Amino acid sequence: LSSRASTILSALDILSSKEQPGVYDGEWKGTGEIFESICPTTGEVLARIHSAEPQELHEALDKTREAFISFRTVPAPQRGEILRQIREALAAKVFHLGALVSLEMGKIRTEGVGEVQEFVDICDYAVGLSRMMNGRVVASERPGHSILEVPNPLGVVAVLSAFNFPIAVYGWNLALSLAAGNATLWKPSPSTPLCSIAITKIISRVLERNGIPGAVAGLMTGGKDVGAAVVESQNVDLVSFTGSEAVGRVVGKRVQTRFGKVLLELGGNNASIIMPDADLSLAVPAVFFGAVGTAGQRCTSTRRLYLHRTIAPDFLSRLQKLYASVRAGDPLEDSTLLGPLHTQAAISIYSDAIKHLQDTDAEILIGGKRYDDAPLKNGNFVQPTIAIPKILDPKNQIWSTETFAPILNAAVFDDIDQAIEWNNAVPQGLSSSLWTRDLKNVGKWIGPAGSDAGIVNVNVGTSGAEIGAAFGGNKSTGWGRESGGDAWKQYVRWSACTINFSDKAPLAQGVNFPT
Ligand code: NAD
Repeated sequence: LSSRASTILSALDILSSKEQPGVYDGEWKGTGEIFESICPTTGEVLARIHSAEPQELHEALDKTREAFISFRTVPAPQRGEILRQIREALAAKVFHLGALVSLEMGKIRTEGVGEVQEFVDICDYAVGLSRMMNGRVVASERPGHSILEVPNPLGVVAVLSAFNFPIAVYGWNLALSLAAGNATLWKPSPSTPLCSIAITKIISRVLERNGIPGAVAGLMTGGKDVGAAVVESQNVDLVSFTGSEAVGRVVGKRVQTRFGKVLLELGGNNASIIMPDADLSLAVPAVFFGAVGTAGQRCTSTRRLYLHRTIAPDFLSRLQKLYASVRAGDPLEDSTLLGPLHTQAAISIYSDAIKHLQDTDAEILIGGKRYDDAPLKNGNFVQPTIAIPKILDPKNQIWSTETFAPILNAAVFDDIDQAIEWNNAVPQGLSSSLWTRDLKNVGKWIGPAGSDAGIVNVNVGTSGAEIGAAFGGNKSTGWGRESGGDAWKQYVRWSACTINFSDKAPLAQGVNFPT
């Protein structure tokens, strides 16, 4: 193992290239299938992880249920105090955890650290929430009666997460789930097991110190089969799934079939619209970050760019200059702006999309190839690409599918209605961004005839949300909401309680049922 990888792993108490257990339910175990964590920058094997055997999986699910039964009666502000300690423990390791994200997932260090910071931020939020998860008192029509809406802990929450945010997505879920009094079992992406092991180790120490069962925040590494078994389990009350539309469709149906609760955070296909009055000195760098940041592997990455005819040539020439200056390389180096794609399979997805663009006479303004010189050829590096497709039909795969790579397709429009129509014409509805200084455009964009996405920004790019608002998308993005806003309300079991404190027992709606 390279010395830089060893340094990061040992700082986080992870056994470098040795085999290690990938299941935690109060104790570390795992005698199932072995899978590898591979560095996308160098191709080196960082570690070999033992997934769970079916028996271990069932045991872990049972232990998670048991942990819930003891944890649900811990008062919410005390749960908040545990979250505060988790926050402190994570904050102390932010830099190393961020480096681990860069090492294992491939995003550049500032973005890696940023995603750990997001976990810290949502812990802060959930500490506050632990004293504010309020129910309601509702006026009753019957004398001497009160109606309460009471939030109680829900049960076992399974978090199935994607490779591209190997820490933050779990953070959004765990913080709310723990504040709500649930036990959470995490099934991370099979290609980012080390991030999940490092986080689980940090959290388990805090739980242990507080005498809380470890299975309150358990871990179950593994692939599709382990994920499917968790989703099927009657022991799981809420499945919070983040991943592709294809897998989300299967997961959604399975959970629905057993009448479980499901929260889906699926693919995005996000557009930026640039009006003629936009401040291009802000819009051009924002589109650059949106399309090239995380090498185009954010669910909120900018994939579609709609330019008003009057500013299109100027915008594209400025954007191309930024693309030409991009520094690809080791995501752990401060000067790098573009890290690798996460897997080799993603290179084929990128190449196939470029080929389809070429086959349909699109103009490739810049990019379109793999970096095949040393040292980048050892990793999964591809050039960020801007294309002007000839096909404008929004239903065509060029516009309607999420290609998880740094490809930005651009088109020219003449009026805002056309641009909004294109923005809304795709199956996905995650993020969207309008650049304008005209209040009338803003009103239209955020109103009933505006963007149909879950995130509707103005003079802010499509990616890089804060934790305070509920995060998520509509349509085939799955309608889920996580993180801030009212998202916590999904992690509790709501009880409507009518209490009679009178000497009579009248029926509602004046119903008369004499006995
Ligand atoms: P993926 O769908 O391949 O995998 C996601 C998770 O599902 C993994 O943990 C995987 O092991 C598991 N899984 C696979 N098959 C399963 C099955 N049959 N049953 C249960 N679990 C199964 O996604 P990915 O490639 O890791 O991530 C990229 C995708 O995630 C992109 O589409 C991206 O837009 C999306 N994403 C969405 C958000 C959001 O908040 N909307 C955030 C991050 C990523």
